[in-house]
Amino acid sequence: MLLIRSCVIFIILLLWQFPQLMLGCIVRFAAGKRLIRRVGRVSVYSWSLRSGLSLGWFCFVPEGADERIIAHELGHTVQSTKLGPLYLLVIGLPSAVWALLYSLYSPEGNYCWFYTERWAEREGVRLSCLLAKSCAHEEDH
Ligand SMILES: [Zn+2]
Repeated sequence: MLLIRSCVIFIILLLWQFPQLMLGCIVRFAAGKRLIRRVGRVSVYSWSLRSGLSLGWFCFVPEGADERIIAHELGHTVQSTKLGPLYLLVIGLPSAVWALLYSLYSPEGNYCWFYTERWAEREGVRLSCLLAKSCAHEEDH
């Protein structure tokens, strides 16, 4: 029963996030990258670019990215789960434009001033706390 439930959830999430998952698959196979972590369904890859990218269950972070950057990109994957087909329109596109323009228009050069990034930071911190509690719980056993 648990397996059936997991399969149904997998299919629903696959359909719900289909546009960004397709793009994530393409980037995954097109760009040079190395798998550095798996968090649930999400695979985190390091790549040679200097900025991060989150597409569904695929995160791409700069080589040597610290935990805060990884958590931020994982925060975008939470947004993807919540917004589904709206993710690219509500987060992806504005975030890409912001990444290009923030140094010109951001108050005090604060990248997280923009709603897409502020929200990703919040989700990333929340997810990190959950994972830390989960890991601590696993270590207790
Ligand atoms: Zn971001």
